Amino acid sequence: MTSDANLHDIATAEERAFNADAAWQDDVRQGVRHARDLASLPLSPGERAAAHGAAANHKVRIPKAYLDLIDWNDPADPIRAQVIPSPEELEEAEGELGDPIADHDFSPVPRLTHRHADRVLLFPTYQCAVYCRFCFRKESLTAIGRGYAREALELALAYIAAHPEIREVILTGGDPLSLPDKALAEIFARIEAIAHVRLLRIHTRVPVALPSRITSGLVEALQGRLMVTVVTHFNHAREITDATEAACRTMRQAGFVLLNQSVLLKGVNDTVEVLEELCRELMYRLGVKPYYLHHGDLARGMAHRRTTIAEGQALAGALRARLSGICNPVYVLDLPEGGGKVPLGPCYVEGRDGETWRLRGLDGEVRTYTEIVGT
Ligand code: SF4
Repeated sequence: MTSDANLHDIATAEERAFNADAAWQDDVRQGVRHARDLASLPLSPGERAAAHGAAANHKVRIPKAYLDLIDWNDPADPIRAQVIPSPEELEEAEGELGDPIADHDFSPVPRLTHRHADRVLLFPTYQCAVYCRFCFRKESLTAIGRGYAREALELALAYIAAHPEIREVILTGGDPLSLPDKALAEIFARIEAIAHVRLLRIHTRVPVALPSRITSGLVEALQGRLMVTVVTHFNHAREITDATEAACRTMRQAGFVLLNQSVLLKGVNDTVEVLEELCRELMYRLGVKPYYLHHGDLARGMAHRRTTIAEGQALAGALRARLSGICNPVYVLDLPEGGGKVPLGPCYVEGRDGETWRLRGLDGEVRTYTEIVGT
């Protein structure tokens, strides 16, 4: 691997490795790889006019497997809405932020964020298999844009080794699973060698957008002492296909714990029917536990995809009433200024009178619960 000193070489080397590694290379090669590839798609006049301006703010890449899910007859198609640049992206609202959850403010060394004592985010790459228009890290991906370089992680790995309170390392980015197997194995081995780290978590959209990348070689690269949890990012049941099912099966059989985080996106998944089907299919078909439903953060140019918090609370309440606990995600907001993820409810506590609490049940009826606690 090359050093971070030469951006162009790193990107080129990673692209070569990424594209020449296995059969899934066709999915990458035949998809959208650059903004200019959008010209061959049946875009609306607005999308066509916005393509290059939006691509300057946030890269464009769509593997063929994901592109094929778009129904081009539907201007509001929920897959299209996630990956095709739109004119609204160019409209920045006052108060929107370049770094919505303050990753950079909590970064003691490059490529690492340490916000909570027992865990860190590690950024092995700032490149992705797919670029989602709503991404809250899009400005880092555009500004930094670098691929994997062994030397670039040395300070971050030394930091983790010097902090025994760190139990979990979260590979994020960029998309860690867009890296070649060799790089993943190398990163895994370096983290595994740090005795106080117990769990490796991987945040990725690869199982959604490029499921053919989940190969036996990839899961073998992540075998060892560490507990491995893969947090996928499905936003709509239309993303769940035979290929994503096979990818998740491969990861389950490798012993990985599978969780999913979705982003609540207006026009994509902001109805109870869509979210209910998504959560059920995740759990029942893929064996992926719905973990978080994120309220939209303040990424620039994303006002058109955000719901209100009240709308999100109503959806979360309806899901709570319809779905079993194992199918229910927690509705959260990752606070600005690095305040962490906080649940947004709904809240079932209506009030209290001394030791008697008034609580609203899932049927809407308010009941009381009087505490009886032994001394
Ligand atoms: S894969 Fe993740 S990091 Fe990459 S653009 Fe999508 S949301 Fe952002």
